[in-house]
Amino acid sequence: MSQLLYEGKAKKMYATDDPNVLRVEYKNDATAFNGKKKAVFPGKGKLNNAICTKVFHVLMKDGIPTHFIDKISETEQLVKAVSIIPIECVVRNVVAGSLAKRFNLEEGTSFGRTIIEFYYKSDALGDPMINDDHALALKIATEEDLAEIRRLALKVNGILQKLFDEAGILLVDFKIEFGKLKSDGKIVLADEISPDSCRLWDKKTHEKLDKDVFRRNIADLPETYEKLLGRLEAVK
Ligand code: UDP
Repeated sequence: MSQLLYEGKAKKMYATDDPNVLRVEYKNDATAFNGKKKAVFPGKGKLNNAICTKVFHVLMKDGIPTHFIDKISETEQLVKAVSIIPIECVVRNVVAGSLAKRFNLEEGTSFGRTIIEFYYKSDALGDPMINDDHALALKIATEEDLAEIRRLALKVNGILQKLFDEAGILLVDFKIEFGKLKSDGKIVLADEISPDSCRLWDKKTHEKLDKDVFRRNIADLPETYEKLLGRLEAVK
């Protein structure tokens, strides 16, 4: 058995024979509200692995550098080893969630422009929002890192808006993380892109196709993720 390096809320990371390659296993656990709400959904790991693989393939075809190597089983991927930059980068096209609360705006409002937010990845602190000056002062990232993160985040947003649009879905917002490759220090998209970390609404009905169905007790999570996967698989 290979060594378990890290267990997160929704994934486990294992070492492989190659120090520059890790194995990721998608778990069936779902959490919300910083881990306060928890449940296990048989089939969730398999669904998120399939959705994330599809999304990363599309991004890589369009030139986004990522940690993704290959999907090796229903619930596992091989990825390049990175050191994660401890910034959660949230990209928003439409008002929802914490942005709606903070500014007392109605969910679904569109500003007609994209908003990028940075949060410092720290469970102990509850992931506080930070700006560039905080990131520089706390030595979380350099100015060059921040510029590259913004550039890539906007490019990812453009590619994903088009992908989801073709599936009849509105990309409301999403969270991504970046890492520096252990091999050469290059910044790549890491972690995952899945309905756990995106808000995705049916374009016509605004039906939710993401983890908000679990957060807000709206619908069955595996059924919702299955529907999303089917829509994405239909996009050529
Ligand atoms: N998000 C995430 N992990 C987090 C916080 C947010 O994946 O720890 C995602 C969330 O699914 C949504 C987007 O980032 O797609 C914006 O989340 P928001 O700030 O509105 O917070 P929330 O309402 O989820 O607390």
